[in-house]
Amino acid sequence: MAPQIELPRIAEPANEADVMREQLEYLIGHATSARQCGCADCKRYLRARATLLEIFEEPTRPTKVREIAPRLARAA
Ligand SMILES: [Zn+2]
Repeated sequence: MAPQIELPRIAEPANEADVMREQLEYLIGHATSARQCGCADCKRYLRARATLLEIFEEPTRPTKVREIAPRLARAA
């Protein structure tokens, strides 16, 4: 009988949803602590934010954003 070859154990691939959650938490943490320093992570945060919040926006009424913006600025 041929000797059994020990294969190195390959770690289970991380769950994609968990990775996305971790990335989102990291980006939110960075963007809120760094106060939009403008680095690559800040830009990733803004892209992710725009994508995740796009369902709350009304593209047919761009004026809506300007109405909300001052309130968001005060809340920050
Ligand atoms: Zn940054």
